[in-house]
Amino acid sequence: MTSLVPPRLKDDCFALPPGVDWTPVDDALARLRDRLDQIVAAEDCAVHQAAGRILAAPAIAKRANPPGANAAVDGYGFAHAATSDGDQLLPLVEGRAAAGAPYGDAVPIGSAIRILTGALLPDGVDTIVLEEDTNTDGQRIAFEGPVRKGANTRKAGEDVEAGAEALPSGSRLAPPEIALLAATGVTEVSVFRPLRVGVLSTGDELAEPGSVSDPSRTYDANRPMLLSLMRDWRMDAIDLGHVRDDREGLRQQLNEGAEHCDAILTSGGASAGDEDHVSALLGETGTRADWRIALKPGRPLALGMWQGVPVFGLPGNPVAALVCTLIFARPALAVLGGEGWRTPQGFTVPAAFEKNKKPGRREYLRARINGDGAAEVFHSEGSGRISGLAWADGLVEIGDGAQTIRKGDPVRYIPYASFR
Ligand code: AMP
Ligand code: MG
Repeated sequence: MTSLVPPRLKDDCFALPPGVDWTPVDDALARLRDRLDQIVAAEDCAVHQAAGRILAAPAIAKRANPPGANAAVDGYGFAHAATSDGDQLLPLVEGRAAAGAPYGDAVPIGSAIRILTGALLPDGVDTIVLEEDTNTDGQRIAFEGPVRKGANTRKAGEDVEAGAEALPSGSRLAPPEIALLAATGVTEVSVFRPLRVGVLSTGDELAEPGSVSDPSRTYDANRPMLLSLMRDWRMDAIDLGHVRDDREGLRQQLNEGAEHCDAILTSGGASAGDEDHVSALLGETGTRADWRIALKPGRPLALGMWQGVPVFGLPGNPVAALVCTLIFARPALAVLGGEGWRTPQGFTVPAAFEKNKKPGRREYLRARINGDGAAEVFHSEGSGRISGLAWADGLVEIGDGAQTIRKGDPVRYIPYASFR
C-alpha cells in the first residue's frame, strides 16, 4: 500500500507570480481581433424587415435627401436680390406653395409668395422670411431687412446626395438607419445572415431551474442568461442543452453544435481540473489556447476550434461567465457576424466608492450610476453573487496596475447597453 504524502513542490514553483506571466486583457483582445474574420454569408433583405441586421455592402442613396430645395419654416418666399436693409414691402402673388402641393408658376422678382414648411421652392424664390417676422394685409408683406440669402431654406441633397454612400458596410440597422434608408429610396439591402450561436452548460451539479430541491444541485443560470444575451445581440441563439461532466456526452454535444452553429459558448469545465472536459476536449483537437487572462472575475477561459467552429469555453461561475462574454465573446462574435471589431463605449464618471486595487489584473466591478451621476459598485465582489449582476446596470473597469480609488476619482463605467 502506498503511503499518502503531501504534494511535493510544484514544477512551476519558481514561475513568476500571477499577474506577471498572465496575458493582459488588451493583448488577449488584440489577438482575437487579429485572428478572427467574418464567417457569415450575405443575403438580400427588404429594409422594412432589416431592423437589427448588419449591412454586408454600403447602402447607396437612390435619391437625394431632400430631393428638392424646400422651405424649412412657414413664411414668405422671394428672390433675395430684390431686398435690402431696412423696411421691406413686397406684394404677394395669388396662391401658395405647400408640402406636396408645389406652386406651378415662377414668382416674379420683387414679389413674395406664401410658403409652408416642406414646400418645394418655386422658381424665383431663394430666401424665406419667417411668418412671425412679418406683417401682412393679405395683399402685401412687410418685414425688416436684411434677410440672409437662402435663409430658412433647405438645399436639394444637403443631407445626402443621390448616389452617395448613405451607410457604410458593417452598419447595424437601428431605427435611425432605417429612416435614412427609407428617405433615400433604398428598399432592399444586402445584410449578413444572423450568426448562429450555440449555448451549452456543463457540470454534474447542474439542474433545470425549479426541477429539484436537492441543495447539492445548482440551477443552470448560465444557459438562460447566455441564450437571452445572444437574442439581445440579434443572433440566432441555439440551445445545446446541458451535459454532465462526461467527456463522451460533451463530445457528442459539441459535434451536434458544430453541425448547426457558427460559434459555440460553453460554460463550466474550462480549467485544467479532472472534471474540466471542455478544456480537455479542445486540447485533443490541438487547437486549444488556454487563456490565462489577467482578469477579475474571469479565469479560466478556454478557446479552441471544434470541427471548424470556434468554441468559447467560459468559466462556470455566472458572474465570470457574463463578464468574459461581454469583454471577449462580444467583439469576437461581432467580427464573425460581419459587424467588425467593436470597442464598448465607456464613460468617465466620478467614483462613489473607494478601493485599493492590487496590480496584476484588470478588474470589472458590477456597477450602476447613482442620482449624482457617480458610479456605485455592488457591496460584495463575491463572484457567486448573481444578484449583483442584476443590481448593476454595467461594469466599472479598473486598469491592470495598482490603483487607489477615492470617492470622486474618475473611473470608466461601461453600461451593459454598450455591449449590445
Ligand atoms: P466550473 O467552472 O465548472 O468549475 O464551475 C465554477 C462554479 O460555477 C461552480 O460553483 C459551478 O457550480 C458554477 N456553475 C457552473 N456552471 C453553472 C451554470 N450553468 N449555472 C450556474 N452556476 C454554474
Ligand atoms: Mg463544472
